[in-house]
Amino acid sequence: MKTIDKSVYNFSKNNEPFTDADPGELLLFKTMDCFSNRLKTEEDLITDLAYSYDVANPAAGPVYINGAEPGDVLAVDILDIQVADQGVISTCEGCGPLCDDMDIRTRVVKIKDGIAEFNGVKFPIDPMIGVIGTAPDGDDVIDGYPGNHGGNMDSKIIKKGARVYFPVRVKGALLQLGDVHATMGDAELCGTGIEIAAEVLVKVSLIKDFELNWPVTETATHWYVNACAHDFGEALRNASRELQRLLMNVTGWDKTDTYMYMSVQSDVAINQACVPCEVAMILRFGTPKLPQFKPLIG
Ligand code: CA
Ligand code: ZN
Repeated sequence: MKTIDKSVYNFSKNNEPFTDADPGELLLFKTMDCFSNRLKTEEDLITDLAYSYDVANPAAGPVYINGAEPGDVLAVDILDIQVADQGVISTCEGCGPLCDDMDIRTRVVKIKDGIAEFNGVKFPIDPMIGVIGTAPDGDDVIDGYPGNHGGNMDSKIIKKGARVYFPVRVKGALLQLGDVHATMGDAELCGTGIEIAAEVLVKVSLIKDFELNWPVTETATHWYVNACAHDFGEALRNASRELQRLLMNVTGWDKTDTYMYMSVQSDVAINQACVPCEVAMILRFGTPKLPQFKPLIG
């Protein structure tokens, strides 16, 4: 097993790999929270941090996957996520649909035996990974943004037991991840989940020569395409077009039949809506697995 405990702040084909790994090897990513662990108490405010997207969401890595070539797909099995015993929630200036009527506030949340407590209300945690992806072949993308490489997808179903597929766009794929949340709601309304340091255990595998345009999450029951755009309508078009293409590959159905099938069987959820709309809006769109056909990817 290899341990990755150094972080970068962008996805870049020029980032020096922290280490390399063979497909099948176990990788343990030690991640800081999205504030680089700098909010320790409720007196520490985001506005004191000179916090900006350029230094947000550190992601551990990248890891050079031996044998990964552009045109391949990298599959990442999330085997385990262990979180620290304390996380933070913060409102963020200009962030989220209700941001014009709120205070800047930090809340420290203690985690004990898998339970979080907020104002006396206790609820189970459900750790998930906010930032995960491979390097783009074009311009660098800061860790705070999502894209068709993955990045800040903030999908609450990218958690233990999920398998996430990424397009490989540069040699070695350059996998990195961070921004773990002890738990997060769909849309991440105020701009954060329970932001927390963590250790994430994954196993990667390679699918050679397979066209994939957006990251896909496979759960026990469903396939979800994660896609973004400057607005949710366009993001839904991107996600449904990619799912249509993947479904047609395995079912042999034509475009219209696939369109109709998705219309009666799909789920959609807003992953994250916490940023102003000059930044990409990201959602997930999926359908149940179809055991009578071969897997969507592979
Ligand atoms: Ca995030
Ligand atoms: Zn986060």
